[in-house]
Amino acid sequence: MTTFEQTELSVCVVCLHLLANGEFNDGTNAAETAATGMERLWGDNARHLTADGEELGYSTWPCDSCGDTDHGDRYRATALIPNRGGEPS
Ligand SMILES: [Zn+2]
Repeated sequence: MTTFEQTELSVCVVCLHLLANGEFNDGTNAAETAATGMERLWGDNARHLTADGEELGYSTWPCDSCGDTDHGDRYRATALIPNRGGEPS
């Protein structure tokens, strides 16, 4: 049986689009930067992040997904990480 560890996140608009649509294109390298940050913070677990898009409003905290420290609107996302603890390796 697999259990999941669920974590509520607040993510930047770039991550919202990446998680929801798999892409974000504003003519800059924002998507690339966010994807790199996501990979660094979450590694393989990045694929377990899902965005539900609920607006959380303006925040001065870093994005929970990519670590971007720019202030701006944040949106709700969820990390649902399979918990493999306890299984024999
Ligand atoms: Zn982000």
